[in-house]
Amino acid sequence: MAKIIDGKLISAQIKAELKEKTAKLLEEKGIIPGLALLLIGEDPASTIYVSSKEKSCKEIGYNSIVRREPATITELEALNIIDQWNKDDKIHGILVQLPVPKHIDEQKIILAISPKKDVDGFHPESFGRLVIGMPGFVSCTPAGIMELLIRSEINLKGKHVVVVGRSNIVGKPIANLLYQKNPHANAVVTICHTGASDLRQYTKQADVLIAAVGVPEIIKADDVKDGVVIIDVGINRVDDPTKEKGYRIVGDVDYEGVFSKASAITPVPGGVGPMTIAMLLSNTFKSASGGF
Ligand code: NDP
Repeated sequence: MAKIIDGKLISAQIKAELKEKTAKLLEEKGIIPGLALLLIGEDPASTIYVSSKEKSCKEIGYNSIVRREPATITELEALNIIDQWNKDDKIHGILVQLPVPKHIDEQKIILAISPKKDVDGFHPESFGRLVIGMPGFVSCTPAGIMELLIRSEINLKGKHVVVVGRSNIVGKPIANLLYQKNPHANAVVTICHTGASDLRQYTKQADVLIAAVGVPEIIKADDVKDGVVIIDVGINRVDDPTKEKGYRIVGDVDYEGVFSKASAITPVPGGVGPMTIAMLLSNTFKSASGGF
């Protein structure tokens, strides 16, 4: 039976640690970490994400600056807001909630954020630093996965990790973190995507499987070997008339099916999800306390 890797608990521990360090930073250096959040438009999921980031900042003693702009804002106006924040010493981290409306070029927005305040870790400089093993901001979901593995004492050295998914925000950065030559990583990594004609051929070999696919329960019990550690990044909505909302959230892995085979597993929800905000706060603290 699998050990459950409890992301809610671990993220709460990280937030408690940050709260303590934030009080100390204020006492010793008079610095309050400041996170600026830009929300463009009224996408319901984005609105919830921004509000919960704002709430988390408040809980641990950060300043949060939230700009909620209509979807009609021009690209130039959005870039000007970022420019002002880049120059503001009280702001240590800048996050533009993605996706942005279609008339705004997402890449331009990401490039406009100073790499020194790039707490989402999406700037090419941050990603380049990660690839060559230089200190820098690591994007929050992959950083959260590493934290889950480290705090659950899962030793990765020499282990075969199979990552399913190669997105810029999850698959590619987590793969790069996992094979770095450092005591917390040093794994042998395989990256799978839709180009793999027989996905199972790869997933069956995994000592650690990271699923970041976005396809509900695509990974079944027959796709993994006994003792595998599973990190399920997927957040998928599936219809469920038995639920009040008419749907439920499932991961990319058939949790019930693999449970008896896996040695450890993250649940969905309550696994990787809660770690993302914790790592955003952690990156912001890093920036406020002197950078990397
Ligand atoms: P993307 O859609 O950007 O990437 C999905 C990846 O999975 C692609 O590389 C794609 O391959 C690959 N893929 C899709 N179908 C298959 C298949 N049948 N076989 C093999 N590979 C496949 O998704 P994201 O990385 O952004 O997100 C993945 C999941 O994680 C989603 O459910 C998302 O909601 C969730 N997520 C959760 C977060 C959190 O917990 N905080 C944060 C971010 C994401 P190809 O490149 O060939 O198209």
